[in-house]
Amino acid sequence: MKSFGYAAHSVGSPLEPFSFERRDLRDNDVAMDILYCGVCHSDLHYVKDDWAKTVYPCVPGHEIIGRVTEVGSGVSKHKVGDIVAVGCMVDSCQECDQCKKDHEQYCREGWTGTYNAPDRQTGDLTQGGYSNNLIAREEFVLTVPDGLDISKAAPLLCAGITTYSPLREWNVGPGSRVGVVGMGGLGHMAIKLAHAMGAIVTVISRSPDKQKDAEALGAHNFLVSKDADQMAAYANGFDLIIDTVPVKHDVNPYLPLLDIDGTLCLVGQIGPLEELTTPFMIRGRRRVAGSIIGGIKETQECLDFCARFGIHPEVEMINIQDINTAYERLERSDVHYRFVIDMKSLQA
Ligand SMILES: [Zn+2]
Ligand SMILES: [Zn+2]
Repeated sequence: MKSFGYAAHSVGSPLEPFSFERRDLRDNDVAMDILYCGVCHSDLHYVKDDWAKTVYPCVPGHEIIGRVTEVGSGVSKHKVGDIVAVGCMVDSCQECDQCKKDHEQYCREGWTGTYNAPDRQTGDLTQGGYSNNLIAREEFVLTVPDGLDISKAAPLLCAGITTYSPLREWNVGPGSRVGVVGMGGLGHMAIKLAHAMGAIVTVISRSPDKQKDAEALGAHNFLVSKDADQMAAYANGFDLIIDTVPVKHDVNPYLPLLDIDGTLCLVGQIGPLEELTTPFMIRGRRRVAGSIIGGIKETQECLDFCARFGIHPEVEMINIQDINTAYERLERSDVHYRFVIDMKSLQA
């Protein structure tokens, strides 16, 4: 299938228009026109080869909303015209214990990324959603429920599920005390989702000037982490802290904020942290954990949950031609809170 999008061609080069081929439709495949694609911080990491695994040219994008244009003969889940979504994964082994538990994100063989990953059958490199169309096997194509505004829903496919999954895993519900560190694409979704689940949500931030925005997103409390008195007052005050900071940082100041058996879950930084010290972990069975996206079943649950509660990411719509400027702004954290590319602009 002929495809057209924007790709990075080498380390540090800007994204540029790029024509390429996608695989032909298989029996279990769904083809779609892409309507919207969110801009994730990992896209930027891939473009810059921060994780030393980028194969160029690379078409990023794994927060995809599309309309089905064609389905393979064996497809039963979707039909032409359906509004669908694809997140970070387009395949996994489907056989291992984790896949069988609907945890494809922990597939023993590793999941196939929506971009920059070898296709499990041909080995051809997958290419992502900054493009006009996509093909993926039906199991990895999600249903966009009525009630979601499709122009805003794309970030649910990565930022949304990345925070939804740990909130569910640690049984957040009415009265749970949830802290959120970092208030970007992931953090703002953590606030909205935890609030909708009935939790008491506190944003933990260095800068007091973010308090208004935090409250507007649904936070009940605001804790300034530079203020030692405030930090002391919150000792043992959280069941779960979702840490969305995407760079190397120090988590030690947050550990005394956890109650006994509390968990700090890292979802942002894939890489080193400042050195961990253990006294608060050992003297309170406090845990430092991590979590990545969510399984397909759970991602569908996240979409359905957001439709039911009217939860949408806060997005800034851009044209594909503005993507390089958007990346510069993303690096400065200058976005409230997620860029979404309107793929109509690709035709321009
Ligand atoms: Zn992402
Ligand atoms: Zn598997």
